[in-house]
Amino acid sequence: MKEIYLDNNATTKVDERVFEEMRPYFCELYGNPSSMHFFGGQVQKKVDEARSRVAALLGALPDEIVFTACGTESDNAAIRSALEVFPEKRHIITSRVEHPAVLTQCRNLSKRGYRITELNVDSEGRLDLEELKAAIDNDTALVTLMYANNETGVIFPIEEAAKIAKEKGALFHTDAVQAVGKIPLNMAESAIDMLSLSGHKLHAPKGIGVLYVRRGTPFRPFLVGGHQERGRRAGTENTASLIALGKACELAHVHMEEERVRVREMRDRLERELTALIPNTRINGGGADRLPNTLSIAMEFVEGEGILLLLSEKGICASSGSACTSGSLEPSHVLRAMGVPFTCAHGSIRFSLSRFTTDAEIDTVIRELPPIIKRLRDMSPFGREFLGKQ
Ligand code: PLP
Repeated sequence: MKEIYLDNNATTKVDERVFEEMRPYFCELYGNPSSMHFFGGQVQKKVDEARSRVAALLGALPDEIVFTACGTESDNAAIRSALEVFPEKRHIITSRVEHPAVLTQCRNLSKRGYRITELNVDSEGRLDLEELKAAIDNDTALVTLMYANNETGVIFPIEEAAKIAKEKGALFHTDAVQAVGKIPLNMAESAIDMLSLSGHKLHAPKGIGVLYVRRGTPFRPFLVGGHQERGRRAGTENTASLIALGKACELAHVHMEEERVRVREMRDRLERELTALIPNTRINGGGADRLPNTLSIAMEFVEGEGILLLLSEKGICASSGSACTSGSLEPSHVLRAMGVPFTCAHGSIRFSLSRFTTDAEIDTVIRELPPIIKRLRDMSPFGREFLGKQ
């Protein structure tokens, strides 16, 4: 069965052009870029090129790019660095809807005596900057807020938030793992101090990430040892993967505008048709500014896991809004923070598109999902009661 892959916020296919770029760096050009000989030197040149390509996508300077192993490492490194830079400050501001890469770290720190403020979101997943202004004080070391939410695609007003942080003398970090490559970012005209991205969300391999650190921003390394990455991240570089990430950033830079329009049109059509064909649906974050590729749709009186299994039987890959990985049937922390009613949160499905999504695939989902929902609602006592009222 050929898959219809609509789970691109979880991970993306490596673009074949990206794979071709990295291929020689395993068995042929395997030198260590730090070596003095020509064999390492030629790899170093490609590492420099990759750094420049990532920088170009972000509107940054090459020396502001620090390669890491993943988005999670970048997030952890940014938070730890801020606390080491300001040892006297004991307060961090974040939001209730962050990825666990940020939230778990913050919650662990709260057990070690740090004060953590988790900002609320409204029913559309939007942040209230007045709450940030009220929470920030001279004790705040770091404000860390995600650029765009992985579950709903809701985009936060990051530039305004960064300015508020700067005015109070706090550092500002954004987890832009879901934003990079999908919407334009320009660090040259930004107040952001640090930004995380992850290769596998933009058609590069898993296990490579970047922490952008603005020139002049004080920084303390998370991994210490060798002098790689100008002393900001020790460890021999994952050369093949970072070269791949450079290529992926170049492709995103060149094609983003046209892909953004095409992907948004497909997402909007999917949203329109599904809400027209399936009664009692709501779009999580539908009233907010959102990433062009993400659709989180809540369907009352059905279980997300049931929908995913039946979709999977048809070859359609999506994901649910439940914390199913933890074995619990609790709705996700994001949907709970938005106050999505329990009956809807359970039946929330996320479709996330990519440059490889086709109109024919969207047609298939529009054809297959409505009868799946009808079948599940017919089977559930709540659903029957609900349908009885139709
Ligand atoms: N932050 C966000 C918003 C994410 O969506 C993810 C991955 O799902 C991460 C961080 C973690 O990135 P990585 O898988 O590269 O550690």
